[in-house]
Amino acid sequence: MESWDKLGEECGIFSIVSHPEAARIAYLGLYALQHRGQESAGIVSSDRTRLHIERGMGYVADLFNEYRLEKLPGDSALGHVRYSTSGESALWNAQPMLIDCWRGPVALAHNGNLTNAAQLRRELERDGAIFHSTSDTEVVLHLISRSRRRTMQEAFVEALRVIQGAYCMVLLTPEYLLAARDPHGFRPLTLGRIKESYVVTSETCALDLINAEYVRDIEPGEVLTIEGNSLEYQFPLPKKKPSFCVFEHIYFSRPDSLVFGRTVNTSRREMGKNLAREHRVDADVVVPVPDSGVSAAIGYAQESGIPLEFGLIRNHYVGRTFIEPKQSIRNFGVKIKLNPVREILQGKRIVLVDDSIVRGTTSKKIVQIIRAAGANEIHVRITAPPLIAPCYYGIDIPTRRELIASSKTVEEICEFIGADSLGYLSLESMLGSVDKRNRYCSACFTDCYPTDVVYDDRQRKLFNDTDDPPPAEAPDA
Ligand code: SF4
Repeated sequence: MESWDKLGEECGIFSIVSHPEAARIAYLGLYALQHRGQESAGIVSSDRTRLHIERGMGYVADLFNEYRLEKLPGDSALGHVRYSTSGESALWNAQPMLIDCWRGPVALAHNGNLTNAAQLRRELERDGAIFHSTSDTEVVLHLISRSRRRTMQEAFVEALRVIQGAYCMVLLTPEYLLAARDPHGFRPLTLGRIKESYVVTSETCALDLINAEYVRDIEPGEVLTIEGNSLEYQFPLPKKKPSFCVFEHIYFSRPDSLVFGRTVNTSRREMGKNLAREHRVDADVVVPVPDSGVSAAIGYAQESGIPLEFGLIRNHYVGRTFIEPKQSIRNFGVKIKLNPVREILQGKRIVLVDDSIVRGTTSKKIVQIIRAAGANEIHVRITAPPLIAPCYYGIDIPTRRELIASSKTVEEICEFIGADSLGYLSLESMLGSVDKRNRYCSACFTDCYPTDVVYDDRQRKLFNDTDDPPPAEAPDA
């Protein structure tokens, strides 16, 4: 299959404490978070004495049924959907991870990427630790298990003091749940409530589905303890400069989610409006690349006065694999996901709005199928600046070498994808389109990382064999 050259999502977490249907609610929550990871899914439940686990490879709806949910008794649950950014896509890396240590059973779910995982793993292995996975998350379980601290909360915090990088972590024991967001706050983590039960989840769209109310964001560096219906919080970690991932608003999060203080839909519309101001063009119709380009295309159409039309229809039911025809069909990989609507595109000058160009191969194919549908002109507009550097914080951005914008000018990219013109949103306008009260990470656009990255061969292996050189000493981004 031709690869779909879009960025990989990361992971999603959903947890609930003290609810009579905890596992079923977690299942629904994961269903809402499916866009954050489609490789594997899992739920751990607590019946207050034991933890029970069900997990597997594939979509939430395919993995869980009545039979499996019946095997998850108890009133607390922790769920996870995974896209692998560290460690390969395999069942042994699926989450939540569940271990039995001298403290008792512990389950852990992680969204993010630890930048010193390989170094920590090497030290632990030298000390006799045996790993069962290639995921950075297992490092944290070893740190917790080896800690001499008296309580699980203290051991968890001790482990958090050692790890670096991006993490939202939720830990479940038979008695209580702990949740933490890293001091930079790279990834979102939200606290909600459904009647007396607390919910911790990656995105608010999961709260909406189960009729839970949004309480607040979990702050960078905050650690929550939820036991029954009571909640305690603390800030035990050194304070760091906030670095919220701006890509959550560009691409990863759902448009209906409230992320870092505003809905993703609002940010994307603002990006579209700013894009229209920066890269105006005479055209007949604005066409989004669905789904992430839709809100921005609405903004572009509103600002430019050019009508919006859905000239590309996305097939949402494409599974992980499918059987290709023996005789090759041109642009098959893209066509299976996107179908052009000829009556909208034929004879028109098109503004095509998309969120990013990674390698350029998919953009090229989309331009080809729109042209084949009879478009006269295609003007590609991107709601972010050129992607030039990889991400070390949990987003599967390919190596620097594979990113087309790291070695080609905008004009060269335009020529490569076969568009009539190409315009990227400027960094200033992108950051002006999200909630300006926050500080953001935009390292994949600037090559300025907000943390040091310990990067060696082992880390490279953990991070899926990327061939990038280690980033320079992290400047103050
Ligand atoms: S490098 Fe890019 S994708 Fe990664 S955290 Fe920063 S903004 Fe997000």
